[in-house]
Amino acid sequence: MKIVRLQADDISYGAVEEDGIRLYRGTPFVAWEPTESVLPFSEARLLSPVFPTKIVAAGRNYAEHAAEMGAKLPEEPLIFLKPATAVVGPGDTVRYPPESAEVHHEAELAVVIGRVASKVAVEDAGDYILGYTAANDVTARDLQRSDGQWTRAKGFDTFCPLGPAVETEFDPAEGHAVIARVNGEVRQEAMTTDLIFSVPQLIAYVSAVMTLLPGDVILTGTPEGVGPVVPGDVMEVEVEGIGILRNPVAQ
Ligand code: MG
Repeated sequence: MKIVRLQADDISYGAVEEDGIRLYRGTPFVAWEPTESVLPFSEARLLSPVFPTKIVAAGRNYAEHAAEMGAKLPEEPLIFLKPATAVVGPGDTVRYPPESAEVHHEAELAVVIGRVASKVAVEDAGDYILGYTAANDVTARDLQRSDGQWTRAKGFDTFCPLGPAVETEFDPAEGHAVIARVNGEVRQEAMTTDLIFSVPQLIAYVSAVMTLLPGDVILTGTPEGVGPVVPGDVMEVEVEGIGILRNPVAQ
């Protein structure tokens, strides 16, 4: 099932069907049920498929990206936070901040947490996953270097596009492509099976530190090929089996 969130009469969750999006009452986290309403795709204004309380991101989780950053492979996951206020949805504009002169795309597979997760064992982690979506961990690379830590570089408003949908029938262990394009040109491409730390390992590691709430998101790290974008560019993150997350960049 592909879960979306959209602006209808109210903000609603829905599920992608052949002819459009079926609206649901409630939320996929507590209780929900289908309504009679199916909105044609052309009338659906999609929002980020979830609104997390926090986004926990893994750094250097693909060997070739760690190498291109001149960084050693981590012996345990390297995690950082992006604020919830950075989240935008499919089609939304990513704002190029005046504080930076080097903003990069980072295509990532994102895990959406389905229920309260605290101190979860690796072998139980699957029980806490609602599904997966695509993410762009937009980064002000110059500020990441100069600040010495990443809060400002990763935390600007609009720096966390998510979407277009949460796919509940997705298994990264099967091997799906994660692709970044800028203006249609491929810049990053890797397989979900190339992750150094698996999704269950990340959930166990993060939930040992902080409680994950329904709708919280873990970004699993970006493959090699990160690079700059400029105002006027259009970024795309595609995760095979989930969809394409497309966001223009503007001043
Ligand atoms: Mg990243």
